Amino acid sequence: MSLEKCTGLVIRQVDFSESSRVVTFYSREFGRFSALAKGAKRLKGPFDAALDVLSECRLVFIRKSQGTLNLLTEARLASRFQPQLSGASDGLTRLYSGYYIAELLNSLNEDFDPNPELYDVAVEVLAELPRVETQVWSLLVWFELTLLQLSGLLPNLHECSICGEPAESREVHAHWVSQGGVICSDCRREEYRGNLVRSDSLAILRRLSTSGSAVAARLQMNSRQIEECHKLAVSAISDILGKRPKTLRYLQLPR
Ligand SMILES: [Zn+2]
Repeated sequence: MSLEKCTGLVIRQVDFSESSRVVTFYSREFGRFSALAKGAKRLKGPFDAALDVLSECRLVFIRKSQGTLNLLTEARLASRFQPQLSGASDGLTRLYSGYYIAELLNSLNEDFDPNPELYDVAVEVLAELPRVETQVWSLLVWFELTLLQLSGLLPNLHECSICGEPAESREVHAHWVSQGGVICSDCRREEYRGNLVRSDSLAILRRLSTSGSAVAARLQMNSRQIEECHKLAVSAISDILGKRPKTLRYLQLPR
């Protein structure tokens, strides 16, 4: 048992009793962890409104031995995520994009396995999302690619996984999920039904995988490019998770 301090994002909340909640955080110092927030459901509870999903908080908690619930003792709000107040017409898409990021942070991480780089990336994306000038889908695809990259599972976007021909030399590829790469149209067999990705989308994916969030947030993509890039990233993520992220059903691809 020890008293710990950290900075973390609220990524999940579950009711525990009439007045308490179990809150899951993704923190910079400890990675993911859950803690019991006693009185969190009371209007004038000890944590005020610090524990809304995607709020960034300064936290103090008592870390218990394995198998016992940690206890939250202090949560001070550092910043709140409220994209629907930014005045953008697609505020709801931005809000659900945030929930999607929270779901990925929760499902792709183990407790007490910190990754400060991933934490900083998530905070960056949550800061960019509410900005009216932000291209939401370019930013989301960037986050998906960065997540895959930080896990060492970014698909090879540079050449055909079978013949090794550079991706620029063919117009259409299919995403070969299990091999972590793409297959050119010459190598693809009838029975393989991977998502198709055209060369311009592959070029965008390569570009996004080497740029920062600010560049990604300004990158214009057409609706076909968004669909192809997002589908490729989601297939790779779903392969790791063993299922499709649930929040995606609320996120409508642009037409
Ligand atoms: Zn090939």
